[in-house]
Amino acid sequence: MRENVIHLSTKEMPRQYYNILPDLPSPLQPPLNPQTKEPVSPEDLLAIFPMELIEQEMSPQRFIDIPEEILEIYSLSRPTPLYRAYRLEELLGTPAKIYYKYEGVNPAGSHKTNTAIAQAYYNKRAGIKRITTETGAGQWGSALSIATQHFGLKLQVFMVKVSFHQKPYRKTLMQMHGAEVVPSPSNLTQSGRAILEQEPDSPGSLGIAISEAIELAVQDRETNYSLGSVLNHVMLHQTIIGQEAKKQLEKVGDYPDIIIASAGGGSNFAGLSFPFIYDKLRGDKKDLRVIAIEPASCPTLTKGKYLYDLGDVAGYTPLIKMFTLGHSFVPPSIHAGGLRYHGMAPTVSKLYDEKVIEAQSFHQIEVFDAARDFLKAEGILPAPESAHAIKGAISEALKCKETGEAKTILFNLSGHGFLDLGAYESYINNKLEDYQLPEETILHYLADLPDIQ
Ligand SMILES: *Cc1c(COP(=O)(O)O)cnc(C)c1O
Repeated sequence: MRENVIHLSTKEMPRQYYNILPDLPSPLQPPLNPQTKEPVSPEDLLAIFPMELIEQEMSPQRFIDIPEEILEIYSLSRPTPLYRAYRLEELLGTPAKIYYKYEGVNPAGSHKTNTAIAQAYYNKRAGIKRITTETGAGQWGSALSIATQHFGLKLQVFMVKVSFHQKPYRKTLMQMHGAEVVPSPSNLTQSGRAILEQEPDSPGSLGIAISEAIELAVQDRETNYSLGSVLNHVMLHQTIIGQEAKKQLEKVGDYPDIIIASAGGGSNFAGLSFPFIYDKLRGDKKDLRVIAIEPASCPTLTKGKYLYDLGDVAGYTPLIKMFTLGHSFVPPSIHAGGLRYHGMAPTVSKLYDEKVIEAQSFHQIEVFDAARDFLKAEGILPAPESAHAIKGAISEALKCKETGEAKTILFNLSGHGFLDLGAYESYINNKLEDYQLPEETILHYLADLPDIQ
């Protein structure tokens, strides 16, 4: 029998996170206070984040030890398996070798627990009693609810109202883990009440939910706020994925020519790719190609601009230098909810601006076609977000078929799709849409942004 799966033992799990900040081709520009336009100080951030995470956010240290308590909880589901997709290669008739790292075996079914566990741990150590957060379809909220339960913290989740009613299963999962879940906009905050007054039937949005969660955290000393992507410390925690993948490929004497992952806020992409980009930036692997895949209906890297913008609608977050479609842009309702964010992590944005990485976008229906081919070959139902990476990998593998090159492709299967069956139901009933996003729409939202270079 051929080896379809490459495992690592618990003992082989990486003991440090990899911080890409000291290795970036040029330094990141600092986040700015939206009122004063001055750089945000660590003290400003203490109202909502614990000091150890703020330090990680700005750390010049290349490797940061993972505390024993975090490793112990990781070991419930990590190291995650690396698969060689022999059957997908055969289905495509490609000479390429395709590998995928499977993060769907983590509790809640995605990579998001990698940072949720770390964030809950550092908040607990800082004496925090409660965490607030936002969630769209519920992937981040459910990951964080598992983490906060492990560390005995309370969790208040603001769940975008449409999802609260349309996607009840992740809400139930969060409640099983002891979280308090309310539909956003809610009556719990001033920003929520202001919106409800104007628009009692508001369906909510991630931007509104973030504003509500931050507002509550700012008001209470024992409450902090937690974000599931975008920030430097979130990218940092996710690098456990790529470090494991590197060790697993070493076991079979391989190294990727092309790395592919979907990009919403950028964390699963960063998690898989940054430890390999480290080799590229050092000059050891100059030809390595790294590709971020995004939906054509939320094309942050491929169509957005590299500017200072806000992370939320109400303006509670700092101004962040990133690729953005504009903070008031509301992406079409594609099923890959985790990819519907207007901005992109500053680190990923910097690498794209410096042309260290590439980006491609695909439409919803071709992405679901790719998910179906993958399911047929490999037997795993992917999350719609992860299916974007599959589409990207298939597209590169088919190019290899044309040129006859046996390239090694590695992609991140960031999660499973068992709680996305509603989306697959629409797909098999031919009810999916390919949204076209006119250039004027994008320019319209970008026109509002402050002009800071
Ligand atoms: C949230 C999510 C994503 C996108 O978020 P990133 O921060 O870009 O990783 C991708 N895949 C899955 C399964 C997700 O839950």
